[in-house]
Amino acid sequence: MSMDMLSNVLYIDLTKKRFHIKKREDIFFNYIGGAGAAIQLLKEECPEGVDPYSPENPIILAVGPLTGLFPLASKTVAMFKSPLTGNLGESHAGGRSAISIRLAGYGAIVIKGAIKTPIYVSIHENKVYFRDATTLWGMKNCFTVGSIIRTHEPASGFRSIMRIGRGGENRVAYGAVTTETFRHFGRLGMGAVMGSKNLKAIVVAGNRSIPIEDKKRYKKVYDFIYEQSTETSLMKKYHDLGTAVNVAPLNLLKALPTFNLKTANFEGADKISGEAMAENYLGRRVACAHCPVGCIHLAALRSRYKEKANFYMTSMIGYDFELIYALGSMLGIDDPEGMLELIDTVEKLCIDAMSTGVCLAWATEMFESGKISGKETDGLELKWGDAPVYIEAVKKIVSQPNDFYRALARGSAYASSVYGGGEFAMAFGGNEMAGYHTGPAGYLGYLLGCRHSHLDNGGYSIDQKDLVEGTLSAGAIVDKIIEEEEWRQVLSGLVICFFARGIYTPGVVRDALAVSGLSKSIEEINEIGRRVHREKYSFKFREGFSFDGMKIPERIFETPSPTMKFDRPFMEKAISYAKEKITGNG
Ligand code: SF4
Repeated sequence: MSMDMLSNVLYIDLTKKRFHIKKREDIFFNYIGGAGAAIQLLKEECPEGVDPYSPENPIILAVGPLTGLFPLASKTVAMFKSPLTGNLGESHAGGRSAISIRLAGYGAIVIKGAIKTPIYVSIHENKVYFRDATTLWGMKNCFTVGSIIRTHEPASGFRSIMRIGRGGENRVAYGAVTTETFRHFGRLGMGAVMGSKNLKAIVVAGNRSIPIEDKKRYKKVYDFIYEQSTETSLMKKYHDLGTAVNVAPLNLLKALPTFNLKTANFEGADKISGEAMAENYLGRRVACAHCPVGCIHLAALRSRYKEKANFYMTSMIGYDFELIYALGSMLGIDDPEGMLELIDTVEKLCIDAMSTGVCLAWATEMFESGKISGKETDGLELKWGDAPVYIEAVKKIVSQPNDFYRALARGSAYASSVYGGGEFAMAFGGNEMAGYHTGPAGYLGYLLGCRHSHLDNGGYSIDQKDLVEGTLSAGAIVDKIIEEEEWRQVLSGLVICFFARGIYTPGVVRDALAVSGLSKSIEEINEIGRRVHREKYSFKFREGFSFDGMKIPERIFETPSPTMKFDRPFMEKAISYAKEKITGNG
């Protein structure tokens, strides 16, 4: 049965350079896998109140029962205690990470401990090697790190190289992990946790196969999902222009955060829209393993090599909606090449693009209003639209030459608690916002989501679908948000790409699970989603999260929303209702 292999959990202790494998049918049967398995392992392995940079903070990677079997079940869930929010750290990435973990023979990997000199861990099915990484530490470009490891780690089958850059090494609280060059565990600081362990990379390679009992039924379910992915309109926009397609309509709607959300309509949006990027820069599309869609859009940017005449090089730079928002409109950058160079810098140093852009936007407004000066910025004149200056600022966030950049490297919520400007520090629950100023549901989505991400519950989509006439009450919005987030725990258990949520309906999930060796009714599946949601919240509460006194920057009330007018009392009423609903006791 395919579930047998999935229930293997690989435990790695970096301090002792030891590992062992344990069967954990209990968690994979009761919680499906992915996020459901990861939250159980996190609660077991993460001591209460631990410092996120303690060796005791575990990093957990988990995949699900559909991984390797069905299209778009292409993601890995990472969990850890977040250095950015101080509670639940969860991030999803694709590339080849998920399939490599599954074909190496595991459903989850738990990494604990720390080591004095940098290493990378190399997992080749049931062998684990601890390799010296001192020469990789401090490299300017995390792409190069991947290339070097690739040449030293021959492996048959699928192989994934998950590595950090200088951002993670220097403990930027939103340090990211890059996998297969263009995919990331971007949010909430997994890169910084790896950096604190002196763990430069995790390599996973595997070549096993996943047994299927009823091949005829498997083919039927597979074909249905494949056709839905390729022959209907469900995934078309992701393939054609990618998520960058959202730039123009959000701008038209006046929902595109611009100049740190001083406005939500960007004059220069047509220069950095998905259409403009495809027309002028699209070089190729790539896909995560086992995805027939290929939403990853790469710009080909030609630049002069070391300022020499007639010497040119072409860089491939990934772009998507969130990058264009955070490192484009939010900073007032309408020069696509400047924006691509900024994206490239953030990628090479390997820090989360959304948090970086929002931190820089806050810092620019602080500078503009005279609340900070060149003393804090280390001589930089932060100015909207000035990509070269922002490139220098990103380098300083990573190198942290003074107290101001050390604070900025801890996120905009922390930096504003030291320097002021909290009314326009655009973080919710400690995590910097995504690019949707759509209305109250979007912001409630960020505030109430377990990881304070727009992807937790898609609140922005409730604004666009249900709030156009502005008729939903605070309670009705919260009900929709929680219902959606509970369902997404099922998708995160599988672990499918959220872009495919229109394909993986409850009936499809039930059928796919059944042929994967885990028969559950739709009611049971829904109940698992509810339980995982509660488990995540219980971890958050355990680590000090509270609904009381949640910070809401005044700026969201000042810039008109395209859907409905909302104010602080409306949001506070919604939060208080959510608290009652989630904790059951008000
Ligand atoms: S749609 Fe995009 S992000 Fe999702 S699995 Fe495919 S390539 Fe990866």
